[in-house]
Amino acid sequence: MAHIVCTVSNCYFNKREGCTAPELDVDGEHADESRFTCCDTFIEQKPGVRSSLSEPKSNTSISCRATHCVYNEDEMCEADRIVVNGKNAGNPEETCCSTFMPPEFK
Ligand code: SF4
Repeated sequence: MAHIVCTVSNCYFNKREGCTAPELDVDGEHADESRFTCCDTFIEQKPGVRSSLSEPKSNTSISCRATHCVYNEDEMCEADRIVVNGKNAGNPEETCCSTFMPPEFK
């Protein structure tokens, strides 16, 4: 469970650089750097469509397929806080989890 800081301001779930998604899916099965990870929960906010009405949470459950990350425990993220980046992303692949840390930093 983690607090999420997210700069993907055009995501349906983004509010004040926080994430309102009930839970998060991070992808990056073969990632050895953060740029090869992505937030699979991203949904592009369409103009004129109302964004999520929920408030950001501080304890979002995060499933994560980036198993080479030091924070990954049985495909769940064990970090207290993660940072997701990807300004103006048009699809999940244009976002990334910047908290990804390869095993050599353990
Ligand atoms: S890109 Fe991911 S972390 Fe950021 S607000 Fe959207 S769902 Fe949440």
